[in-house]
This record gives sequence, C-alpha cells and structure tokens, in this order.
Amino acid sequence: MPSSPSDGPEYDLVVIGAGAAGLAGAVNAAELDLSVALLDAAAQPGGQFYRHPAPALGATRPEALHHDWSAFAELRRRLVDSDVTYLAGHHVWTVVRAEPSTDRWEVHAVTGADGNGERPVRVRARAVLLATGAYERQLPFPGWTLPGVVGAGGAQAMVKSGLVLPGRRVVVAGSGPLLPAVAASLATAGARVPAVVEASGYLGYARHPRALATNVHKTAEAAVHGATLLRHRVRLRTRSAVTQVHGDDRVAAVTVSRLDRDWRPVPGTGRRIACDALAVGHGLVPQLELATGLGCATRRTQDGSCALDLDADQQTSVLGVWAAGETGGVGGVRLARVEGELAGLAIAARLRERPALTAGGRARTLRRRRDRMRAFAAVMAAAHAPGPGWSRWLDDATDVCRCEEVTAGRIREAVADYGARDARTVKLLTRAGMGWCQGRMCGTAVACLAGEGQGAQLPPSPERRPLAVPVRLEMLGALAETAARETPPAKAPEPPP
Ligand SMILES: Cc1cc2nc3c(=O)[nH]c(=O)nc-3n(C[C@H](O)[C@H](O)[C@H](O)COP(=O)(O)OP(=O)(O)OC[C@H]3O[C@@H](n4cnc5c(N)ncnc54)[C@H](O)[C@@H]3O)c2cc1C
Repeated sequence: MPSSPSDGPEYDLVVIGAGAAGLAGAVNAAELDLSVALLDAAAQPGGQFYRHPAPALGATRPEALHHDWSAFAELRRRLVDSDVTYLAGHHVWTVVRAEPSTDRWEVHAVTGADGNGERPVRVRARAVLLATGAYERQLPFPGWTLPGVVGAGGAQAMVKSGLVLPGRRVVVAGSGPLLPAVAASLATAGARVPAVVEASGYLGYARHPRALATNVHKTAEAAVHGATLLRHRVRLRTRSAVTQVHGDDRVAAVTVSRLDRDWRPVPGTGRRIACDALAVGHGLVPQLELATGLGCATRRTQDGSCALDLDADQQTSVLGVWAAGETGGVGGVRLARVEGELAGLAIAARLRERPALTAGGRARTLRRRRDRMRAFAAVMAAAHAPGPGWSRWLDDATDVCRCEEVTAGRIREAVADYGARDARTVKLLTRAGMGWCQGRMCGTAVACLAGEGQGAQLPPSPERRPLAVPVRLEMLGALAETAARETPPAKAPEPPP
C-alpha cells in the first residue's frame, strides 16, 4: 500500500534548489523573519558550482578546487545560523496551488536516489522561490555516445565531487565560458589537455566594451583561466568543433574541423587529435520544468534557449512565485547570488507588507548589480549562440536521442516523409525524447532538426510538463487518494428560486 505524503508545518516560503541562488534567497528571507523550507535533490548544499567531494573521500581542502569558496562558506554559515528547514535529498516533482482558489502552494517531493524513498513529502507555503539552475546543452555528432565522452560540466563535477579525472589526455570542446574553466581544472588536477576547441570566437565580446568594463570580475576570471592554460601549454582552437570521435570501445582520438560562421564544417580541414576522453558541452539551458508546469511565462534568450520572464524584483508572471539564478537566464554564480538575495528581500516585503524593503538602498544596489551582470550574460549568450549549421556534423547513423537510440536519419525521415514539423510530432513518430532524460539531452537537437527546411533554427518554447523528475505510479496514486480525501464533497446546486 503506498504511503501518503507526509506533511510538516506550513511555511511562509519554500525554496527549491540550494545552489547559490536558492541559498542566498533562503537565508536572506529567514533573516527577514520569514519561516523558510529549502529543498534540494543533492545531498549537500551548493548546487552545480559549489560542489563538494563526497565526505567518504576524506578531502581535506575542498576549497582548493574553487575560486570563490569564501562566498559559499558565508552562505553556509548564514544557513547554519538560521531557522531554515533544509531538506537535502528531496527531488521536487511538482508544485501546485494548494486549492485552486487559494494563494497557498504545495510542493511535492520524493526522496531516495531514484525517488524510491519510503515516503513522499509535501511542503506547503505562501510563496515559492524557484532556483533550479540549468543543465548542459548537448549537440550530437558521430561518436558522441562512445565511453570516454563526458559533458564539460560533467568533467568538472567528476573533478570537484569525485576527485577523479575522465581520462589522462582530455580534449575539451563545445562552446561557452565553461570550457576554459573546465580545461583549467582538468590541467591543474593532472590531466593533459591537448586542446580547447571553441565553436564560436571571442570577438563577440569585444563589440560590447561597456559590458566588459562594468564586469571586470568576468575579465579577471577569464585572465586567470587563460594564464593557467598557457602554463599547461593548452592550445585554444576557436571557430572549430569536434566533428567525429574515433575508437572501438572507448575514445581513442577525435577529429577537429574548422567551422564557417554558421558552424558548418569547412571541407578538408579535419585534423585528428589523440586522446582518451572528450569533455564536451555547448552552453547551459535553464531548467524550467517546475516553472512551466505552473504556467510561468518565458522569454527567448540571445542564444535561443528559454528563460523565465521576471519582473524587476524577480517575480514570475504567476503571482506568488519568484525565481532566481539560471532559471532567469544563464549568467554565472555571482549573478545567481545577487538575484537570490533580491528575491528573498522582495518576498519578505510582500508577505510582511513592508514595501520599504524593496524601495530602500539595499534593494536598489542589488537591482543595479543584477542589471549590470544580466547585460554581460546577454553578451555572453549572443557570443556563443549555436550556429544553424551544426547539424551538418551529423550523419544519418548518428544517435540523436541516446535514451531511445533514435538516429538523425530516422528524425530526418519523420520530417521529410511523414511531415513532422516540430519536436513533439517527431517524438510521437520516433520516440525521440521519450526516454529517461525526457529530452534534456536531445531536446535542442531534435527541435532544430524538426525545424530544418522551414527556416526555423530555434527550438520552440518549452512544453508544460506535469512531472519534473521521474515518479513511481504508486506515488501518483497516493497523491490522488489524499486529494480525494481532502476535497470536500461538491455541494448540490441550489434549486432555482
Ligand atoms: C554541470 C554544470 C557545471 C558547471 N560548472 C561551472 C564551473 O565550473 N564554473 C562556473 O563558473 N560555473 C559553472 N557552472 C555554472 C554555475 O554552476 C551556475 O552559474 C551557478 O551554479 C548558478 O546557481 P543556481 O543557484 O542558479 O543553480 P545551481 O547551482 O545549478 O543550483 C540548482 C540547484 O537546484 C537543485 N534542483 C534542480 N531541480 C530540482 C528539483 N526538481 N528538485 C530539487 N532540487 C532541484 C539542484 O540539485 C541544484 O542544487 C556549471 C553549471 C552546470 C550545469
């Protein structure tokens, strides 16, 4: 018999995600006297940036792998000193209104590694802060499913959390500011990095001197990574991409080709580089399932992905639901912290009816810093936006959806022969995007292939998904039973006078 969700007290605020944004939002709101619950799927706070080695690994100086650890240490101190109820290992699968007509929210979570923990959890609150971060955008190419090919952020996670390297000789490829950071971490941790292969160039930044001048910390960060790469003799190849991975049962080499402005490979430019691992990623994509499930409006960012459309104080288009960090557009850890602080302030102002909190100097400073960093994030997104020619890397045998093993050839057939024009129709015809990752890995690629030939280069707005993480059917059954028990019987209609 499935157990029904366990309830705790009702909170003022529930925060989903204990990365930089969620931590900052939770502690700031708690310091302003709100009762706060903070839920995160991971075992420890810190999110994608402040990853810690598992305690069993016995790392004595985890901060050595970070350049901004003191900021996290301060957030963690504030968390420990606060009354925030921190629920680690809680995978939130949906957020709903407590009752259709109320302004209370119910957050439903499962526990356990695969969401198979004993008891589902329900947390009620008056406001929600979504700080669920982002995931890596992957664009497929021949050989990308061979063992030894890992995500660029995944390689970083292996170093920071597992204290292991993905290989001894690792090519880092894709696009975006994460690549130099990952290459620098790998080289510092002892890997040989023969090349960093960036599909765009860096000239796009130079066209925005104001954004550069007002975000010197970003330029300084890039200079530090650049110096590390020089010290380790790592070659940087811009306007190039890995267009093929070679090897029988794992990576043995990659082919790197020059790209034209649209990311089409230039014929005859392929060069082979020997390596035993490839760390590859094409930027980050905001993780919006919970938000779109609630109906929050999205906006298109400069790199073609979708982010939440937020007001000046971080509120979404749904009253009572706020967002901070990468959910509002990818912009880095400092921006995430500032937005979290601002959201905490704004939520306290609303719930405690203290408008002075958002009218005061602190809120104005936070907004100004947020806007400055958002301007840089826009420049960064435009500089690394995937070019429409990337699909020329694919041959018909390349797996695009690796969960369901759907090849580029089958997707092109669904488009050319069966008239599919969008990712959803391709999914119905081929099962692409129907597997365990629910299209997180292949979604961009499938949408681009479906739009080819109609001039469409951008994936459509994200679909509304009622389940953000996989949930067992019995959990849904238990939820339905609870809802049925708690719903008062419908009144018989009054007879007409
Ligand atoms: C794989 C990866 C690697 C990165 N590496 C670097 C790097 O090396 N250097 C760098 O400068 N930046 C890096 N970034 C970017 C950086 O991590 C972000 O800028 C920063 O972490 C943003 O903070 P955030 O709070 O918005 O999101 P995050 O730090 O991503 O935090 C989001 C949190 O939400 C939780 N969460 C998400 N969905 C749910 C759910 N349904 N239920 C419960 N919890 C949930 C996650 O467990 C996570 O802890 C990386 C990003 C990714 C995705």
